[in-house]
Amino acid sequence: MPIRFYNTLTRREEEFVPLEPGKVAMYTCGPTVYAPPHIGNMRTFFFADLLRRYLGFRGFQVKFVMNLTDVDDKTIRGALREGVSLNEYTQPFIDDLFHNFDQLGIRQADVHPRATHYVPQMVDIIRRLQERGMAYEAEGSVYFDISEFPGYGQLSKVDVSAGRRGERVAADEYDKDDVRDFVLWKAAKPEDATVGAVWDTQWGPGRPGWHIECSAMSMQELGETFDIHLGGVDLIFPHHEDEIAQSEGATGKPFVRYWLHGEFLLLEGGKMAKSTGNIFNVRDLVERGVKPSSVRYLYLTAHYRSKLNFTFEGLASAGEAVRRVRGTRDRLRDHPAARDPDPADTPSLHAAADEVLAAFAAAMDEDLNTSVGLATLHRLAGAINTRLEELGTRPISHAEQAAALAALERIDSVFGFVSLADRESQVDEGLAAWVEERIAAREAARKARDFASADAIRDEIAARGVVVEDTAQGPRWSLGS
Ligand code: AMP
Ligand code: ZN
Repeated sequence: MPIRFYNTLTRREEEFVPLEPGKVAMYTCGPTVYAPPHIGNMRTFFFADLLRRYLGFRGFQVKFVMNLTDVDDKTIRGALREGVSLNEYTQPFIDDLFHNFDQLGIRQADVHPRATHYVPQMVDIIRRLQERGMAYEAEGSVYFDISEFPGYGQLSKVDVSAGRRGERVAADEYDKDDVRDFVLWKAAKPEDATVGAVWDTQWGPGRPGWHIECSAMSMQELGETFDIHLGGVDLIFPHHEDEIAQSEGATGKPFVRYWLHGEFLLLEGGKMAKSTGNIFNVRDLVERGVKPSSVRYLYLTAHYRSKLNFTFEGLASAGEAVRRVRGTRDRLRDHPAARDPDPADTPSLHAAADEVLAAFAAAMDEDLNTSVGLATLHRLAGAINTRLEELGTRPISHAEQAAALAALERIDSVFGFVSLADRESQVDEGLAAWVEERIAAREAARKARDFASADAIRDEIAARGVVVEDTAQGPRWSLGS
């Protein structure tokens, strides 16, 4: 069975055939590192990692690249505001991004290129475009001439004829319907030098436009033609349209074969966006006692091309579902197993595991149908529960137990919420052990009338979000809300 993806380029579901058999080269636009990512951004990164995990599950060798936009209008503005260099400004956001990935069980890409490290490649593409008559210089900036690229509009289907050709736009972001010559290279503004965002080129000092960054980083890491390019739907136009124009304009070759776009996460029906402040990030949720594994599950409940409305009720039922699947896994794992089971007993989980794995793959092959994939996982959990009830106190055969556990694990290698919940409970247990030890130390300090140390320990515990109450039965602790 082939994998099928909905390709934004053709607006059809297509069979996925990589350029090189058995190998996949994929790229996703990463974040602009000027603010902490919210759980809307994370939905898009989760989707990219999910696709990469599933391709791995299907036996492909994947090279996955996600860039970091560390030079653009927003990062320069931020660095200027804080009076630091671009590097100093963006590094904490990059660290925070990877921390968010870790919390949600999103694996880092194989390569995370930073735009500032690929400026020579950007300059080279612009030079080639100029040689081919597709770019022109004006006052130290260089623009892409969309009238010279007949394929402009192929991805977004924007109507180029309605555009006001010849006019130029220098901003990285502009009106969605505004089809104009876009900037490739921007002449330096005086303040750019103060944050270290200036490079010397044949056009004079300046810095790259946002769109050229992704063309340069993706082609450098994956070749001039590669398999899959992803991003959120908001990037189709102009960002991805412009990436195609620049790349194909310079190389004369097809840039990307499959374009996949993830829909938005909504908050109470509205777009979750950094610019409006209508956001939650993982930290906010963890502070409210939400487990990131519930967020992961929530993402899986909707198809990646559907909008997903974020609600706390949805999150609570996601958490409940994670607990159910994990509970079933634990019961099966802890059930006594025997090498030679009762000959009168008929094992049923081998067949259930095979059937569910095949159904899971069939669902995911259909443009990553995660909600059907989840349903197959719950079917396996149901079969396991029924089987354990049937066995009662009798042992299960080692082979049957291993087959069902392996199927659960294989599905979780893609979905990842069970292993994430396992990790969360280890952290919980680790925290509990630490708090118990600190409380004992505090009691000892009090007994020795060393109140300064006792107070210091109390503060140390509080700093980890734990509230200690002194009751008649001794100290009691709980996680603060
Ligand atoms: P940014 O850091 O703003 O460049 O965004 C990084 C990625 O997050 C892009 O691929 C956006 O399409 C995506 N994105 C932004 N807002 C949302 C949202 N509310 N839901 C899903 N993805 C989003
Ligand atoms: Zn991009």
